Amino acid sequence: MVEVSVNASRIKQSEIRIMSVECERVRGVNLAQGVCDTEVPEPVRRAAKAAVDAGLNQYTRLDGIPALRGAIANKLRDHNRLTVDPEAQLLVTSGATGGFFAACMAMLNPADEVILFEPCYGYHAHTLTAMNCKPVFVRLNAPDWKFIADDVERVITPRTKAIVVNSPANPSGKVMSRAELGWLAEIAVKHDLLVFTDEIYEYFLYDGHEHVSIATLPGMAERTITISGFSKTFSITGWRIGYAACPARWKTSIGYFHDLTYICAPAPFQHGAAAGLNELPKKFYEDLRLEYLHKRDLICSALTQAGLAPSIPQGAYYILADVAALPGSNSKEKAMHLLRETGVAAVPGNAFYHDDAGENLLRFCFAKRLTDLENACNRLQRLRAHATA
Ligand code: PLP
Repeated sequence: MVEVSVNASRIKQSEIRIMSVECERVRGVNLAQGVCDTEVPEPVRRAAKAAVDAGLNQYTRLDGIPALRGAIANKLRDHNRLTVDPEAQLLVTSGATGGFFAACMAMLNPADEVILFEPCYGYHAHTLTAMNCKPVFVRLNAPDWKFIADDVERVITPRTKAIVVNSPANPSGKVMSRAELGWLAEIAVKHDLLVFTDEIYEYFLYDGHEHVSIATLPGMAERTITISGFSKTFSITGWRIGYAACPARWKTSIGYFHDLTYICAPAPFQHGAAAGLNELPKKFYEDLRLEYLHKRDLICSALTQAGLAPSIPQGAYYILADVAALPGSNSKEKAMHLLRETGVAAVPGNAFYHDDAGENLLRFCFAKRLTDLENACNRLQRLRAHATA
């Protein structure tokens, strides 16, 4: 019998997809999956439709259309304070995911060690495993997910090649401060490390937290691959448009591997994203932030009232809540209990840790239409009713 590869035999289905299927079965409210149910901005939709109608449906250059690369370079300059040459240093990718995958293919060797902050986004850890690299975890401590420079220094070995930064973070909502990023930059320079930074939630910031791109810190532009995209900001997770900005000497290799897997990002949607960047006013981003701030506060107070203490996210659109009070011996059982009792689906916390540190946590996504979120908040109160019955 022909067997799947050793790599494939290590793969297990994502808890997020499993919970989504379970949620569908009970017709519940799905706060498990990080898809945005909010409306796509009009210029983005219009330009994508116009591109389809105008016949712009074929492969593009492997690094994306010049109009989008130019618009991204302007955005990086104005919003991130990062100077990037759109010809030599920028690739449009098939989502941030395609950018990260191609960058890992281009930069990492088997057995390289790569530092990740935990709780971490599963795709980062699993991509590294798929490359036969070793993810090495640095724990962020609840409720505010702090770490110190020593925590990182301590895990560095001669095999350490890179650090993955994800700020604002999925699932913790942590926004790395300038000081924390400064420690990482110093460590990266001292040990000659590469930094992958996934900034997909850069516009989702609360309570005065600021987004800093680590590539702007001293010595970092030459060793950082800055990855982001439009899935979240423009609510187009299915369009697959992202980008990677990197030193010019790496672009050909990253572009090669992106070409090999995707050829290019979807052509008409590249036009849509370019229009969004060029046409949407500053107010769009501020309104987005305020909308998500409101949603964050709604779900946090519903979780608190239901006795599931949330750690208040500083950014992104997920909440990790302490569910020690729910019956069940692990986070999967607790998630299933919650789904049965309330019809609200969340992701078991063990999906975000390599050990058992997440067994008393559930992740709730609040990128939902307001009516669905209010429905979920009401349903969560059934837990309280049961507890007091
Ligand atoms: N990076 C992080 C941290 C995410 O949470 C997600 C989606 O949940 C992605 C990347 C996916 O981005 P894209 O749709 O651009 O591939």
